[in-house]
Amino acid sequence: MMRLWRRSCSKVLCAVLILVAANILLVVFYTKGTIKSLVVGSLHKEGAAVAQRPLHLKKDVHHSSKFYTGRGNLRVCRLTERNGFTPLPSSLFSGKSLKSTMKQQSHVRQGNAEFHPGWKGVKARLAPKKFFPQWGKGLSQARQKEAHYLFLKFGYNAFLSNQLPFNRSIPDTRHARCLQKTYPAQLPSLSVILIFLNEALSVIQRAITSIINQTPPRLLKEIILVDDFSSHGELKGRLDEAIMLYNQSFPVLLKLIRHTKRRGLAQARNTGLEAATADVVAILDAHIEVNVGWAEPILSRIQEDHTVVVSPVFDNIDFNTFELEKQELAVDGFDWQLWCQYDHVPHAWLQLDDVTAPMTSPSIMGILAANRIFLTEIGALDGGMLVYGGENVELSLRVWQCGGKIEILPCSRIAHLGRYYKPYAMNLDIPLRRNALRVAETWMDKHKYMVYLAWNIPLKNSGIDYGDISSRKALQEKLKCKSFDWYLKNIYPLLKPVSNIVCYGRIKNSLDESVCLDRGPVPGNSPKMKPCRELSEQNVYYLLSGEFYVGELTNEQYCLADSGRGEKPTLELCSEAAKRGTHIYWDFKQGNSIKNKDTARCLEIKRDPSGTYRLVLENCTQQTWKIQHIGRNWGHS
Ligand code: UDP
Ligand code: MN
Repeated sequence: MMRLWRRSCSKVLCAVLILVAANILLVVFYTKGTIKSLVVGSLHKEGAAVAQRPLHLKKDVHHSSKFYTGRGNLRVCRLTERNGFTPLPSSLFSGKSLKSTMKQQSHVRQGNAEFHPGWKGVKARLAPKKFFPQWGKGLSQARQKEAHYLFLKFGYNAFLSNQLPFNRSIPDTRHARCLQKTYPAQLPSLSVILIFLNEALSVIQRAITSIINQTPPRLLKEIILVDDFSSHGELKGRLDEAIMLYNQSFPVLLKLIRHTKRRGLAQARNTGLEAATADVVAILDAHIEVNVGWAEPILSRIQEDHTVVVSPVFDNIDFNTFELEKQELAVDGFDWQLWCQYDHVPHAWLQLDDVTAPMTSPSIMGILAANRIFLTEIGALDGGMLVYGGENVELSLRVWQCGGKIEILPCSRIAHLGRYYKPYAMNLDIPLRRNALRVAETWMDKHKYMVYLAWNIPLKNSGIDYGDISSRKALQEKLKCKSFDWYLKNIYPLLKPVSNIVCYGRIKNSLDESVCLDRGPVPGNSPKMKPCRELSEQNVYYLLSGEFYVGELTNEQYCLADSGRGEKPTLELCSEAAKRGTHIYWDFKQGNSIKNKDTARCLEIKRDPSGTYRLVLENCTQQTWKIQHIGRNWGHS
């Protein structure tokens, strides 16, 4: 509903209307006074303590027996089990195995939409009922209202954050062997860049405090804060004051740069990079807490090889309880929508039998560290990316294709606050899709159509303005970058292009064009007819070879299947259909029937007395189907 409505009015008008409505609601709930007293109280309480603490590396490294392997974290990535997946030897890790974590997390984006920050936009904002049962018992009604207000404002429990000390301890989530590692005495200097947009001040201060406490002072040259034009009052004078306090104790350690208009996350990171002066930059979100010993693995690896762009491992700070959830080791991959996913660790890394060794990764998730000059020369981040998304894949392809490397460092851990929703984007799909096309058009050569297919966008006249890419193309020439084909073959063979898709999009039966074929509940294998909506659950891909992929375009595709028994069609993993003896090859042409090549039964719909439609397999009654987009090679079957 929201999506349809939003498309029918101009983007700007909608954004203004939504913001005004949200603000009215918030103001009705609260008076400024309450918020002010809360925030000021917290600053005074903790600020002085922080300012007086000498710089030191935390000595009392403690071990927590309680590891959390909870929901996703940075970008709420999906975890996939692919063919050839190798569970990590359990001896390597305490806590749950990667495989069980994968299972647990794989529903975050697809199945549990209500729990996905930003993905379903407004819906997520109405569900903080989930928030109170788990936390806040014993709070007065008035305090609960404050907490609720702050939760809506930030997408996390800022009320609780405001009570927690800036210098709180978090569990050391590194493998025990990381503690035995030694690093060279001489290491490069470090600039830490923290970007933010309407973040709770206490969260930013906790990030700064953790960086000061967990980084050896001789290595930490500066902390640069970049404000991407926040509107929240507490991030104006109050933040300036806090920075002044820090700088009294640690002269010229902190710098604050403010954008004078919203420029998006890629530009915010670039602004920080341009201002940085140390040998190495770590470009982080401001809602993080760096963990003990986080910097040394980064600095020593980049000292060894200045062309490596590294990522720490992200543990998740629960948006509700602020507890740490340990993330098991995985590499950072992505799907054809360029949305991130965790992939299993490389075999070559397992064979090293060293859990502290850097791990080659196809991509980064966002947060990164690199040699400052190398990162600048290779083109920093693509400033043409708007708002959020895609910039991490763009950088990753560029680094790999143009002579660099990407690695995850298992001994460098950063806790990242995964938000309940993103307060800066009501519908994240819009920037994600636009930025994904920009990456595809710049870097993916002949495979760029996969991104169009995954987002269900027509190959020609997409109507999406992905901006001017000429300077990125010029950079590609200058750096003599390798092809995307090379990247797929050598770096990310798990990302497989599908070359024989002939048509795609939503598919409708001529009996009623208001309903579309839908992959149905996840997990599950029962396709349904549902009201047509612009969701990847309703993406259908018809292949030259006769398969119908239903649902999101991934490497573990589900095929429409006729088991030959009963009247219900099913969805089967295409790779397993043959094993199960189901029939996944169909005859179809635009405006014709969908007929199984083996069983000769047709996919049809039946209207129930309730008015809903049921999918059935039966003798063909000449029902016809129409698919949204004709791709390539149509009619060559
Ligand atoms: N961000 C920004 N400008 C924007 C959108 C995001 O500066 O228009 C920043 C945001 O404050 C955060 C970082 O980009 O520090 C990444 O965004 P977020 O944390 O929401 O995404 P995630 O970490 O979940 O990928
Ligand atoms: Mn973040």
